[in-house]
Amino acid sequence: MKILALNSGSSSQKSCLYDIGDSLPEHPPNPVWEAKIEWNGSQADIDIKTSAGKTFHDQVKVTSRRHALEHLFRSLWEGDAPAVGKPSEIRVVGHRIVLGQHKFEEPILVNPEVKRVIADASVFAPLHNRAELEGIEIMQRLLGHVPQVAVFDTAFHHRMPLGAVVYPGPYEWFERGIRRYGFHGINHQYCAHRAAQLMRKPVDSLQLVSCHLGNGCSLAAVDRGRSVDTTMGFTPLEGLMMGTRSGSVDPSILTYLMRSRKTDGQQLDQQLNHESGLLGISGVSSDMREVMKAKESGDQRAKLAFDIFVHRLRSGIGSMVAALGGFDALIFTAGIGENSEAVRQATCENFSYLGLKLDPAKNKKSPIDQDIAEQDSRVRVLVIRAQEDWAIARECWKMVSRE
Ligand code: ADP
Repeated sequence: MKILALNSGSSSQKSCLYDIGDSLPEHPPNPVWEAKIEWNGSQADIDIKTSAGKTFHDQVKVTSRRHALEHLFRSLWEGDAPAVGKPSEIRVVGHRIVLGQHKFEEPILVNPEVKRVIADASVFAPLHNRAELEGIEIMQRLLGHVPQVAVFDTAFHHRMPLGAVVYPGPYEWFERGIRRYGFHGINHQYCAHRAAQLMRKPVDSLQLVSCHLGNGCSLAAVDRGRSVDTTMGFTPLEGLMMGTRSGSVDPSILTYLMRSRKTDGQQLDQQLNHESGLLGISGVSSDMREVMKAKESGDQRAKLAFDIFVHRLRSGIGSMVAALGGFDALIFTAGIGENSEAVRQATCENFSYLGLKLDPAKNKKSPIDQDIAEQDSRVRVLVIRAQEDWAIARECWKMVSRE
């Protein structure tokens, strides 16, 4: 069964095509085709990789985001690296939907009602949800009536206890949908299941803290397969320090800036989402690799950026452990989590009092889908590759197989 998984961003789109047989493989398979498109005004950069390891790069002039995407998807069956003979070979398309509000607990087949909810939620996540809706519509036009499945980043956090969900503002906020939704749920859920596989234990016997550290960063406390707390909230801005996002700051800073400097909402959004985090503090880059290079060459602001990042990460993990009342494993995933030996080491240092012992030699290797704790560590430390696209494809397979 050919399954296309789409992960839309405002200025980029990742897409993977999987070919899955009659049973789900235990380990994530390689996609038969994967593509990333990034566009900047009238130009789009397309990178395609096939299962045979061939790579193609293309640069095209485009008139709109829609135009760029149509060009990319047509290359699935046209051009230099076709992955299918004809569009109808694609059996199902899965979409990562960032915000499903609290309406959806499970992946769902897209219908007009689902599209309406996604459109309504774009008030809260305008960049993401509009891009995702456009992806659904383009697929409808190109593939006709192929089933499309919406897989929500918020769904995994749907059953968090109300104590973790409701902001302690006026109760009316909660009634109006201003509440903690949590994000990165597709990957946190995938990591919890992968951790159970790696530990050879059922997921419903485990308490896990999952650290998704990419350009966006969030933690999840997973109690026997269920998310009971997470660091992102109403939007993906709350919680940890990130590449360009501040994470949590005292809200009075914002009212102070509005009063004293007449900063308006749009400027605050810009500062908090795009001019803060690793970039804002270091002044060097939002990319952890660049920040580390600058730190190692003696740049004090880069060192401060790293220190804040680790400080907030440790505090966040502490609060997740407290929500769980203990933990069996700490999971590191996504770009920084999978690759930064320094971040993992600095983070784990402060949890030795809980019996967590990181194996420095294993940590140095950044091995994927491996345990990097010492044998006698009371808590396992796992590095797990983020596999959002595979997690989406797996949900599509289950849905179509059920039918
Ligand atoms: P996204 O959230 O956009 O999917 P990724 O998961 O790819 O992002 O993570 C991007 C982050 O991972 C960047 O900050 C990048 O610097 C970081 N990263 C990637 N490789 C390394 C590495 N070898 N060491 C430290 N950080 C890394």
